[in-house]
Amino acid sequence: TTARVVVVGGGSGGATAARYIARDGAGAIDVTLIEPQRIYHTCYFGNLYLGGFFDYDDLGHGYTGLATTYGINVVHDWAVGVDRDAQTVALASGASVPYDRLVLSPGIDFVDGSVPGWSVSAQGAMPHAYKGGTQVELLRSQIAAMPEGGTYAMIAPPNPYRCPPGPYERVSMVAHYLRENNPTAKILIVDPKDSFSKQALFEDGWNRHYAGMITRIGPDMGGATFEVDPAAMTVTIDGVVENVDVCNVIPGQRAGQIAFAAGITDGNWAPVSAYDMTSRVDPLITVLGDAAQQGAMPKSGFSANSQAKVAANAIVAALTNGRQFPARYANTCWSLIDTDDGVKVGATYEASDEGIVSVDSFVSQVGETAEVRAATYRESLDWYQAITTDMFV
Ligand code: FAD
Repeated sequence: TTARVVVVGGGSGGATAARYIARDGAGAIDVTLIEPQRIYHTCYFGNLYLGGFFDYDDLGHGYTGLATTYGINVVHDWAVGVDRDAQTVALASGASVPYDRLVLSPGIDFVDGSVPGWSVSAQGAMPHAYKGGTQVELLRSQIAAMPEGGTYAMIAPPNPYRCPPGPYERVSMVAHYLRENNPTAKILIVDPKDSFSKQALFEDGWNRHYAGMITRIGPDMGGATFEVDPAAMTVTIDGVVENVDVCNVIPGQRAGQIAFAAGITDGNWAPVSAYDMTSRVDPLITVLGDAAQQGAMPKSGFSANSQAKVAANAIVAALTNGRQFPARYANTCWSLIDTDDGVKVGATYEASDEGIVSVDSFVSQVGETAEVRAATYRESLDWYQAITTDMFV
């Protein structure tokens, strides 16, 4: 008999898992991928779109290859519930899809109330642009419409959140755009965290390329005591009201809603085994990517793709009596600070009973030559090509 694997979420983790399970389990495993969007727009390189280095359409990828090349049954719908006893997934359409193994890779949702004054209903006035899709187009048009000398504010998220350097690469790319188009404009970062990823590299780059443009208010200066008013377009920091022209609110984050509906979360995330990414609550459910609480890996597309390959191998091995290889994971997060000024941070990982642990790590250094930085940027372009091929082609 053919085993049924259902994958919820066709992003970095889910598309990769569906593709590898269908490919390596061909003939023995039937794969259904549930994903509401027909085109997946990557969050990665969305900041480079804001900087003018990429077109929006360059970020979009469709599911035809997964359906035609690998025979994956792609269903464009929302999963709204999981019945773990019956082993079925309920869809918004009312359909019920049975599974032998279920993979959840739904990405993130936002923590309600994490930014006082903001809710998802205010995302038109104050976009997050922190999930794939048209929010980033809205943010770009708001930046383009800023008055001369206006202010772009960012409310940076508390830990943990997807793509630790993402907000700061975004600041770099917005600064790049403003330097070309609105050079007297200002950028204000309100940040509840004491420190952030690649901080020395970003601050060095901001001084070299965008001197005087960027101010970051950390918790010592009131950056953890703020509220926003989307109707008035104000940010209040420690009682002081600032008028802003754009306000990019990146709220606190939690696992995508379907992980809560499945009853496999603990706090904001879904704990998993580091050996194969199976849920610690239900071994028939695998959780990948941002939604998983796995240990030391940052929440990134690279991480989700890496986890998906380990999980796909474990699922195919379990369902076909095949060989399961020891879990090895990797991640690199590249960021572009200005034209050809790329930096990176990364590590390799392995499994332990306590969670995924780092084995080796590396990070770009302040003061590297222009050639090294340009080569780092080119690596990131190659990575984008490689991961989107690994997910969709
Ligand atoms: P996603 O890729 O978000 O996929 C989740 C999918 O699930 C979505 O397509 C969604 O529609 C679907 N879904 C959700 N709920 C349901 C449901 N109930 N039913 C059906 N489908 C559902 N990572 C990097 O590695 N490198 C980078 O340079 C990088 N840059 C980034 C820049 C920005 C601005 C941002 C915001 C993120 C960046 N990331 C980067 C992080 C990366 O985008 C995420 O970590 C990664 O996409 C996580 O993969 P995932 O599979 O967990 O979720």
